[in-house]
Amino acid sequence: MPRHALRIHGQDRPPAGGQWFTTQNPFTGEDWAEVARGDARDVDAAVQSAHAALTTGPWATMSATQRGALMLRVADLIARDAAALAALEVRDNGKLYAEMLGQLNYIPQWFRYYGGLADKIQGSTLPLDKPGYFAFTRHEPVGVVAAITPWNSPLLLATWKIAPALAAGCTVVIKPSEFTSVSTLALAALFDEAGFPPGVVNVVTGFGPEVGSPLVEHPLVAKVSFTGSDATGRHINAQAARLLKHTAMELGGKSPNIVFDDADLEQAVFGAISGIFAATGQTCIAGSRLLVQDSIHDAFVERLLAVARTARLGDPMDPGTQVGPVTTPPQYRKVLEYLDIGRAEGATAVLGGEAGHAPGCGGGPAGQGWFVQPTVFTGVQPEMRIAQEEVFGPVLSVIRFKDEADALRIANGVRFGLAAAVWTRDIGRAIRMSERLQAGTVWVNTYRAVSFMAPFGGVKDSGLGRENGQDAVREYLQTKTVWLNTGAVAGNPFVLR
Ligand code: NAD
Repeated sequence: MPRHALRIHGQDRPPAGGQWFTTQNPFTGEDWAEVARGDARDVDAAVQSAHAALTTGPWATMSATQRGALMLRVADLIARDAAALAALEVRDNGKLYAEMLGQLNYIPQWFRYYGGLADKIQGSTLPLDKPGYFAFTRHEPVGVVAAITPWNSPLLLATWKIAPALAAGCTVVIKPSEFTSVSTLALAALFDEAGFPPGVVNVVTGFGPEVGSPLVEHPLVAKVSFTGSDATGRHINAQAARLLKHTAMELGGKSPNIVFDDADLEQAVFGAISGIFAATGQTCIAGSRLLVQDSIHDAFVERLLAVARTARLGDPMDPGTQVGPVTTPPQYRKVLEYLDIGRAEGATAVLGGEAGHAPGCGGGPAGQGWFVQPTVFTGVQPEMRIAQEEVFGPVLSVIRFKDEADALRIANGVRFGLAAAVWTRDIGRAIRMSERLQAGTVWVNTYRAVSFMAPFGGVKDSGLGRENGQDAVREYLQTKTVWLNTGAVAGNPFVLR
């Protein structure tokens, strides 16, 4: 079984404690690699390396143009290795190879975009009310960034942090999810191949309490950028607040896909299906609540089921597969539990509702492939747990609504606010809804569109801060103001001016 060491100061390093853990393939349920089980000593080594790179290494004195050039080079290397990196992701998290390859071919764009932005970050001269002074601002890197990522899109979500952080001149220590560590280690090696100075990008693998927690608490870490569950995010944010560290939190969602009776129903069916069943429902932006207007409810559900019924479960490497396994055994158990909760609450599983089986693998909890049938619940009331809580699986809750006001009340009646979609041909309604929906992203007649150019993040319990787009680089900068006495400032030194 291959062993994957930590990546610290541009080198593979065994963990200080000499411990390793195994990582599983969600399709076969089998162990396929060993990963270093880091601890606080490894975190300290990585942060010290990142801090040295930030303050004394060549990275610190390099021009922003040179930093940008390195980022363009790493973009090319990722593009070169896209197929291999996509296959690694599939092995660890079970997403479809076709989707991962698309994602890996897209990821270089983040490094190109932010690489291009690196030397366009500039301060300004300040208009001042005080004579005898000249002042200007500099935008400086905030410091060492701790990037903590989840298992559902390890490389994409790490990229959303690394690319703007490097453009800002920061250095990074990444702690990937213990379920999907290997691809992030492979990515980190490409930074060294591209010529980044040692210590600019480091990876410490391991578990939350053993690696994540000491990383958040390390005195030389200035910013914690976290993507994951809201429970962990809340914990980390409190920990970071006590230490006065900057944070960015990209957390969960319970996003509504709202279909009005004037919508293009064929497109809306497509959006509802991809909203919940793509990536086996394991995306923060999953459209897990389908709000359908009363007048078209039954007909729309029929059309939806006609398509959803045809979903092919199977090997994520097979181009014919449409729905892959759930990524982790705990997540598999959690999704099955929600199926029971939905039934107990009185919802009807009109599709699925059980553990799934895929050709070529045993299925079920016995250790071979963690499949769940694509599930559609109807008769869901807005207050039910399956309509309020993030399931993070292929489970759709269909809720009826009467009119715009009713749709808004239901859509906004959850503690999350990551994304929402509106399906309508009425432009006025689309704009009214997009103004009133409590969400960081609103899509009209589409679902799931994201781009390196478009800010992304949550409101309410879905998080703090924004990733992507030009402004994301500000998350990794701090402003310094420089005052110069132009020669005219004098007077009584004991009196403040
Ligand atoms: P998680 O919160 O369990 O873990 C995320 C990361 O935090 C992992 O690397 C984990 O090891 C680490 N961690 C756990 N405990 C820690 C601690 N005490 N201190 C520091 N680090 C700790 O989340 P997950 O199950 O890996 O991911 C799924 C969740 O992520 C879902 O809720 C999903 O909605 C969310 N998510 C959000 C976005 C977004 O952009 N908003 C994107 C993808 C996923």
